[in-house]
Amino acid sequence: MQATLYLILEDMVILEFMERKKLVVIGGGFAGLAVVKGLKKAPLDITLIDKRNHHLFQPLLYQAATATLSVRDIAIALRQVFAKQDNTTVIMGDVTDIDKKNKMVVLGNGDLFPYDYLVVAIGSRHSYFGNDHFEKNAPGIKTISDALLIRERILTAFEKAERLDSISETHKYLTFVIVGGGPTGVECAGSIAELIQKAMHKNFRRIRTEKARIFLIEGFDRLLPPFHPSLSERTKKDLEKLGVTVLTNRLVTNITEEGVQVGDTFIEARTVIWAAGNAIPPLVQCLETPLDRQGRVLVEKDLSIPGHSEIFVAGDAAHFKFKDKILPGVATVALQQGRFLAKLLLKEAKQSHPSKHRKNGFVYFDKGNLATIGTGKAVGNIGNFRFKGLFAWLIWGFVHIAYLVGFRNRISVMLEWTIHYLTGARSARIIQGTIDENLPKREASAILEAQEIKTLDRENR
Ligand SMILES: Cc1cc2nc3c(=O)[nH]c(=O)nc-3n(C[C@H](O)[C@H](O)[C@H](O)COP(=O)(O)OP(=O)(O)OC[C@H]3O[C@@H](n4cnc5c(N)ncnc54)[C@H](O)[C@@H]3O)c2cc1C
Repeated sequence: MQATLYLILEDMVILEFMERKKLVVIGGGFAGLAVVKGLKKAPLDITLIDKRNHHLFQPLLYQAATATLSVRDIAIALRQVFAKQDNTTVIMGDVTDIDKKNKMVVLGNGDLFPYDYLVVAIGSRHSYFGNDHFEKNAPGIKTISDALLIRERILTAFEKAERLDSISETHKYLTFVIVGGGPTGVECAGSIAELIQKAMHKNFRRIRTEKARIFLIEGFDRLLPPFHPSLSERTKKDLEKLGVTVLTNRLVTNITEEGVQVGDTFIEARTVIWAAGNAIPPLVQCLETPLDRQGRVLVEKDLSIPGHSEIFVAGDAAHFKFKDKILPGVATVALQQGRFLAKLLLKEAKQSHPSKHRKNGFVYFDKGNLATIGTGKAVGNIGNFRFKGLFAWLIWGFVHIAYLVGFRNRISVMLEWTIHYLTGARSARIIQGTIDENLPKREASAILEAQEIKTLDRENR
């Protein structure tokens, strides 16, 4: 009797196991992470696939690019996040195809992952609006590698300027151009200005770092277009006080090794950062469903794609209209969409025959906008309530710490910010490469002459 009961129970467990539906989530960014975290207790077999092994907190990436934070402060291994979530397997892999007919996700080496439900949350890349050749000289900031590349270029520019004899060459290295006056461009420009003024100024002997120039170029007629015009104006004034030259209503027509063409003007600059435009990775084309001009997937009210109630797209990759406005590609949208999908999938995972016609759609709660300009300077709005200055900066800091993933990261970022606030110091200033190979070659006979040049009055440099 006992043995029979045992066998029946075992069968029930096996049945339960076999009936668990498979959820595959592509992308461990804000949306993907929110979906999987929200399904901690769901009777689902979840596979989270990301081509990188970490979740990255992109809103603070510019601080890694400008030497305030180390990249390990703003990223966390996905495997660590889900170590205790038994229903979830993390796979590091690049998804190259989605076979809708056979319900399979295909990885770069041909590995297959079957699904009952699929969430595509692959974020966005920067777009050069058809000028992809700009990228070589003007990297964008989206990944850790991008941030490290930009940090290396900024720090190396100062080192090269210190080594050069020619004053005009020195000035090219001490000129920084940021293209795009949205939050990322504004934050980058302000942060480079403070890096120069507070952290670099007493560190060099041959160059005067205060002579460095920073240009912020925006095609629209004001900075921070999604914000109220009064906040755009305040941002411009704050940046100008920090020494940034703001050029609005100007389009960049070319970027070379030598600098940036803006209309009739050529700005000689060795360091250019691209902070304009978004494009969705081409993977979404495998879904064979309508896309908008940026490549975002037009999704239904429940974030599924037309004709496939089992496939969802969330975050930057989704084109979702709410109250007649397309939701912007920001972290709060991605997070809320991820949480919405988690609730929806949890409910359906518990039903033996979920209805294909879902009643509830995604409802967006607008928490407002925030952008920081520099230490103690930020702008923001919640609905019609607008705020700026130190108050806005404190809210900005609080919100970013609250959303950062990982306890260690929160403590580390708070510590770095406190030190930075009190002393202006930047700790992440290590350059990995060397520079001599890229400097002009000097003839042996010119060495003495060079010694004389080195004693040039610093005022001239
Ligand atoms: C520099 C910067 C500053 C920002 N500042 C702010 C801010 O202050 N406030 C704000 O709200 N938002 C900000 N954003 C926007 C915000 O970060 C994004 O809206 C948010 O990250 C989108 O989340 P997501 O989940 O859609 O994509 P992501 O967070 O980008 O995650 C996508 C994930 O998908 C993975 N992936 C992509 N393709 C594949 C593939 N083929 N196979 C496997 N994995 C893949 C990627 O590796 C990545 O981990 C900023 C963005 C940037 C770049």
